[in-house]
Amino acid sequence: MKVYVLEVPPIGTNCFILCDPDSGRCAVIDPGGGAEAVISAVEESACTPDCILLTHGHYDHTGAAKAVSEHFGNVPIYLNERDVLPDGSRALSQFPRVGGTQNCDEGDTISVGSLKLQVLATPGHSRGSVTFRCGDLLFCGDTLFAGSCGRTDLYGGSMDEIMRSLARLGALEGDLQVLPGHMEMSTMELERRRNPYLQQALRMYPGKP
Ligand SMILES: [Zn+2]
Repeated sequence: MKVYVLEVPPIGTNCFILCDPDSGRCAVIDPGGGAEAVISAVEESACTPDCILLTHGHYDHTGAAKAVSEHFGNVPIYLNERDVLPDGSRALSQFPRVGGTQNCDEGDTISVGSLKLQVLATPGHSRGSVTFRCGDLLFCGDTLFAGSCGRTDLYGGSMDEIMRSLARLGALEGDLQVLPGHMEMSTMELERRRNPYLQQALRMYPGKP
């Protein structure tokens, strides 16, 4: 497996292209803005997308999803339904409609070539925030950042829920690589040593994942 990362507008979101070079298939994770840059990066990877995966519904992660999906023949777009807001919601500016998304939730597995991505519900930054796990890679969106965690003051955010989600991620076993929705990459081992939010979460909820 191979991962490419590019920072996309409007506010520096990490868009990932997760490739299975053997099958020539890939997943595009969180294509924020900049559809053309995302499409060129996918073409350079020499892999064809099987799907677009959205860690949550915020505009800076979803902006180019539709355009990228259409460019590659309307590949499915996965987004947890709790981040698909009803008509008339006042938070639609934060969660603009992507349209035609398929739900993905706890316990689901999404195949990309021979790769299997496990869906973990990790609410708190938004109600529908999920983490995609592929082997030891955690695509955790805005739940866990290097040295920090996502904000909880936007629509559907909850400090208690993000703490439970962080505790759950922090208790996962393996040589886990943390690939967040913004800023630099990290590892879970490093985050357990230095991230005050993760440390507090693990003290509050010391159970198993
Ligand atoms: Zn967000």
